Amino acid sequence: MAGAQQAMTNSAMELESINPATGEVFARWAETRAEEILGLIARARAAQAGWGALRVEARCEYLARLRDALFARRDEMAQLIAREAGKPLVEALFQEILVSLDTADYFARRGPELLRPERIVHHLIAAKQISGSVQLEPYGVVAIISPWNYPLSIPLGQMIPALAAGNAVILKPSELTPAIGHAIGELMHEAGLPADVVQIVYGGGEIGRALTEGAPGAPRESFPDKVIFTGSVETGRRVAEACARQLIPSVLELGGKDAMIVLEDADIDIASSGAVWGAFTNCGQACLSVERLFVVSPEGDGAGSRAARFCERVIEKTGRLKMGAGTDASSDIGPLIRPRQMERIERQLADAVARGARILCGGRRRPELGPGFFEPTVVTGVTPEMLLMREETFGPVLPVISVRDAEEAVRLANDSEFGLAASIWTHPSDAGALRGRELAGRLRAGSVMVNDVASYYGLCEAPHGGRGASGWGRTHGRFGLAEMVQVKYVATDRLPRWPKAWWYGYNAELGAAAGRMIEMLFAPGRWWSMKKWRRRVAGAWGARRALPVMRRPRPL
Ligand code: NDP
Repeated sequence: MAGAQQAMTNSAMELESINPATGEVFARWAETRAEEILGLIARARAAQAGWGALRVEARCEYLARLRDALFARRDEMAQLIAREAGKPLVEALFQEILVSLDTADYFARRGPELLRPERIVHHLIAAKQISGSVQLEPYGVVAIISPWNYPLSIPLGQMIPALAAGNAVILKPSELTPAIGHAIGELMHEAGLPADVVQIVYGGGEIGRALTEGAPGAPRESFPDKVIFTGSVETGRRVAEACARQLIPSVLELGGKDAMIVLEDADIDIASSGAVWGAFTNCGQACLSVERLFVVSPEGDGAGSRAARFCERVIEKTGRLKMGAGTDASSDIGPLIRPRQMERIERQLADAVARGARILCGGRRRPELGPGFFEPTVVTGVTPEMLLMREETFGPVLPVISVRDAEEAVRLANDSEFGLAASIWTHPSDAGALRGRELAGRLRAGSVMVNDVASYYGLCEAPHGGRGASGWGRTHGRFGLAEMVQVKYVATDRLPRWPKAWWYGYNAELGAAAGRMIEMLFAPGRWWSMKKWRRRVAGAWGARRALPVMRRPRPL
């Protein structure tokens, strides 16, 4: 990567690109200095003026070029993601490259239609002479702060609609994946985007704070106009507070503790495969990974029970997973991004075991494979008060809980401060799908999949976002695009020569006519009620008195 060479530095303020499978440092990057942020925002603001003035179709052509630039570098990018984020190559291809290509393609094609002004048909009969429309305008400068776990698809999933809408973007990739952040900048350059429409800043929390908190007393234009933050609840809260102080709107995509419910009629073979993938993909470092699994087993979890049979299949399939570096094409499970992630996992497991849980498989570090390897782990005997059930784990741990029935599963699934996503596994039939959708309506979550898990994230139309501690706002699809625009309503009066009845010139006659008009419009009753219609007709007759008042010479 030519750009990577350029960005390598011997500066004291450096970020390192580390391969989490080996601990090898393979690139160094100059950290952006906090005092540079002000200038970067000013440049973004200047660039946005021209970018936002382009026709949507022209901006979308750049997005098509971005898609093609990524396509041309797809294998190199997948390798880089496997190397810097540690995820298996297949996951890099499916969950990062394919998803990003599809997002660019979707907005390149659909952007003009999604951003078209919309005519508003007014409901109020008295407002029929007003021709209204809604225009969607860019915010200006959008700051995007991203985590390391999906270092390409998360930022691109947010940058692409932001750009389509006419915003300039300042991206702060995680300090753990600076090389991928840099490659995103290169892709934008290759797509031919005008200078400064996209700028990448490198650094950790300090740079994130400089972006969102600014300098004390700094003027409004030195802040971004919107912040899209993806990360932990703790940091999300700080970002929300900083935005609130400046009255900057934010989108917060925070943590999850996603529930998977396996109903009594679900196919155990299918559901156990879904559970193993849903819990261990990206080594469990996914906001959408399964962190609580409820299996309906009326006979409990003793030998021969449905829960026990389900666990046997899960353990057998987990045992077949191959751990190894993401860059090895046959690896199923890569390393955790940093060894320090293991401390949280081990603390939660120790708490669970001390309170009576049993580890059925895994639960150990694998230092002989590399610094970040931790075995995929299945735990039973888990109860709601355990840390494993309350805190986000963000690692390869699957707690399985047997429940009596669907009611108990729904109640326990909703017993969490998080509300990101969930899945329901039912009989693989239309009737099963219908029941799944009914139960989905009772789950407190931003999205629910029936007979699948997490993969909706790859569907570019599917809105993604959470409730409660999982954050607010949406990314992806038209709801994600709606977060990147300010809505402007424009109204034109079709009868500009007519005085408005509601303008000055108030008198008792006009007041009476207004009262009659309200009766004409809203006198209640069933549609066949004679009483209602008598009142409405009388109202209309009375309201006619408004006409001479309206035709009166404009008094003021
Ligand atoms: P963090 O909250 O630690 O960091 C997120 C980003 O914010 C990083 O770029 C970080 O920089 C930066 N940052 C840190 N402090 C501040 C601050 N005060 N102001 C502004 N920015 C700051 O999260 P992780 O990177 O560890 O990501 C993991 C978390 O992300 C998990 O909780 C996961 O559930 C969540 N997540 C949510 C998703 C969703 O869509 N809901 C998707 C993916 C992940 P630095 O890296 O230097 O700390």
